[in-house]
Amino acid sequence: MIPGEGGGKPGGPEEYGAEPSLSGRARDHRREEKRALAASWEEVYGQGPAVRLLRSFLERGEVPHAMLFLGPRGVGKSTVARLFAAAYLCPSGGLDDCPSCRRVMEGIHPDFHLVEPEGLQIRKEQVDELERSLHLKPAGGKGRVAVVEEAGTMNVYAANAFLKTLEEPPPGTCIILVAEREEELLPTLVSRCTAVRFHPIPTGEIERYLVEVEGLDGVEAGEISRWSGGVFGRAVSWARDRRRLRFREAGVDFAARARREGLADLLFRLGELREEWESYSRREAELPEAYRQAVDQWSLQALKKKTEERHKRETARRRREAVEDFLDGMASFYRDIIVYDLVEGGGADPVPRLVNRGRWQEVESEALILGRKRAGEKLALVEWARRALEGNVDPALTLDALAAGLKGWARPSLR
Ligand SMILES: [Zn+2]
Repeated sequence: MIPGEGGGKPGGPEEYGAEPSLSGRARDHRREEKRALAASWEEVYGQGPAVRLLRSFLERGEVPHAMLFLGPRGVGKSTVARLFAAAYLCPSGGLDDCPSCRRVMEGIHPDFHLVEPEGLQIRKEQVDELERSLHLKPAGGKGRVAVVEEAGTMNVYAANAFLKTLEEPPPGTCIILVAEREEELLPTLVSRCTAVRFHPIPTGEIERYLVEVEGLDGVEAGEISRWSGGVFGRAVSWARDRRRLRFREAGVDFAARARREGLADLLFRLGELREEWESYSRREAELPEAYRQAVDQWSLQALKKKTEERHKRETARRRREAVEDFLDGMASFYRDIIVYDLVEGGGADPVPRLVNRGRWQEVESEALILGRKRAGEKLALVEWARRALEGNVDPALTLDALAAGLKGWARPSLR
């Protein structure tokens, strides 16, 4: 059960601070879809230097063969990589709403190649496949762009295969590696790339963005930016898609009840949650507009395959995000217990230090019973679940094991 959808909570919604206003002002999901497709540099916030550098490459027609986008999580590296690819491949040489730009933004352009980790790693086979596609004749004639997300997850075989690709890229190819830190990559890879640096966005800036650009009121903006832990991308996704915020809230709720409720009740709750995330992540198999327009221009089969792959990836991504939001909510509650216990023990008022300030009473009562040591053990279990998800373990199994672990019925191995 997701809070905000008739979940019977003790004490009524007024106890939960901001929650009613968040779910009550549910935003139109279509707005998110539309925004995600718009190809415009205006989408990028707080990354002026990086954007100016990239646009100057395009304007001078001197696009490097390989770039390395570096910077913390959620500051816009992937969005910018996609925008850059769209601009580079656009027949009119800029970002607009043409079929080519739209196809890149939708991830189905035949000259746009995306490599993402499968599970915890990018494997050599993926690099080999990229290498093969880069040597095909470009469909649009302008060149090709390959984006390697989380490039630091390339295993050593993949990285070595990739070095060869970087040494002799086919003409007109631009490869973009995306990573948080250059230490994640082989120095030989780093030295072959032009580095483009992205910067963290301070929490105050996130709040301002949510008010000025996303149109949230100050209270909501403050809450979402605090909940996001300073990850800009996450704050924006939550502001635009209230269903994701409700998964987070469901996680907080789950952690707040986990001690009091029996395992059977918790598993039942997770069953309901699974239905929610399945219906949330399912993507309609509807063919994008660009696809209908493009069939006469480009190979129908290749486009079909790309579209199907994209739908599969999207569904998996949305499911993972929903479950991550849930775990995020849980972790924040246990974190709050630890903070409460520590700060209160020092004689200060712990409430302003809490992430879930609106639920301070629940935090307080659980802190009195659990204490920071046991809350820390539970937090470690949530971290275990997070890593299991990253490793592609089935989300439903992971959460069931987590519930059993929280109730002391099982002890997932912590490494
Ligand atoms: Zn265009």
